[in-house]
Amino acid sequence: MASAASHRDGPSDGPKKLTILGSTGSIGCSTLDLVQRNPEAFQVEAVTAGTRVKELAAQAREVGAKCAVIADETLYGDLKEALSGTGIDVAAGHAAVAEAAAPPADMVMAAIVGAAGLPPTLAAVRQGTTILLANKETLVCAGDFMSAELSAHGATLLPVDSEHNAIFQVLEDSQPDAIEKIILTASGGPLRTRELHEMRDVTPAQAVAHPNWDMGAKISVDSATMMNKGLELIEAHYLFDMPSEQIDILVHPQSVIHSMVAYVDGSVLAQLGSPDMRTPIAYSLAWPQRMKAPVERLDFAKVRELTFEDPDPKRFPALRLTRTALEDGGSAPTILNAANEIAVDAFLNKRIRFTEIAETVEETLQSIEPRQLDSLDAVFETDRLAREVSTGVVARFESGGTAKKVGVA
Ligand code: NDP
Repeated sequence: MASAASHRDGPSDGPKKLTILGSTGSIGCSTLDLVQRNPEAFQVEAVTAGTRVKELAAQAREVGAKCAVIADETLYGDLKEALSGTGIDVAAGHAAVAEAAAPPADMVMAAIVGAAGLPPTLAAVRQGTTILLANKETLVCAGDFMSAELSAHGATLLPVDSEHNAIFQVLEDSQPDAIEKIILTASGGPLRTRELHEMRDVTPAQAVAHPNWDMGAKISVDSATMMNKGLELIEAHYLFDMPSEQIDILVHPQSVIHSMVAYVDGSVLAQLGSPDMRTPIAYSLAWPQRMKAPVERLDFAKVRELTFEDPDPKRFPALRLTRTALEDGGSAPTILNAANEIAVDAFLNKRIRFTEIAETVEETLQSIEPRQLDSLDAVFETDRLAREVSTGVVARFESGGTAKKVGVA
């Protein structure tokens, strides 16, 4: 992949032009926080959101963005009114979000949640720009396709996800053969020690209550199921060109070590820090330099201990599902991602139980025959089909049905 691992020449001097996709979310707000602390270093071109007009308009005003875009077309009038007299361009609709990613910017922060982030991220890739990738779903649901597009357009991908950012910081990519394995650390989420028989009754409030990280609702549920770590396994495969068997997952409840790389000489390099996304965001914003970030400094005497354990496959079936999907390849990760988005949404809306998230994903994977994905249309067609199938599975669970195993169609 044409990731930053192979593009270490830095951008030009002067303020960097930055577009933030998903500016109203957790990653978007942390990005804006850093930008506002360094007003001379960044010039915000565009900010985009899904539905939260008021927040988007306030952000656009505060940072003097040139353009604000809301994905929900019905909210165009509200956004226009909220920004009247400011001179800030206003647009609405999914196509407009992708268009906002296309004009020349030095960097695009891709922080929309879910597969909805794919088209605008692709639009930025096709400009050959530098993409700060938080939206892991882009690589999960279209990894092969995005890799080809990155190479074709000479775009640079900087990983924002804390684990991948950590690996990026310690990876000696000049010697790929010297890398024995990548070790992705995982906090284990809020349910790491919960009894297996209690998992079924976990509520949305319990699932989103992450012990270390403050994140959006979807990724918080993904952390509780450990689907997030599985998605990160797939993301790491594409970012660092590593096969599944060379990527380990290790539970590390303190979230101090953000990931590690093991080398053939027995050395293990790790990146450590407080669990605050402003560190990896700052690293990617300033890359190839570094910038100040207002995060709590590690006090090792207070941390006292760093512990590790293997993940429990019984509590967290999502890990098995994601590894199998990565190894099956083709459309399997796309199907997994779409089914997971449907299932997490249904869980957050109290339509299905916590354990039915993984069951929905598994049944959807078993119901659709994997195929090769050679175009964006093929990716979207698979995504659509998987959403349809998983919506059916969710409906059955909702009406009291149970999990069933089905043969491959
Ligand atoms: P949030 O849910 O907090 O924010 C999502 C953002 O995307 C919001 O700006 C939201 O707008 C916007 N959005 C939602 N749906 C759409 C849509 N259909 N079209 C356009 N915009 C949309 O998510 P996070 O910030 O937590 O996560 C963003 C991405 O970063 C995810 O892919 C996640 O996996 C990844 N990530 C997040 C981390 C974290 O610490 N939060 C850590 C590592 C990766 P609105 O506010 O209007 O709904």
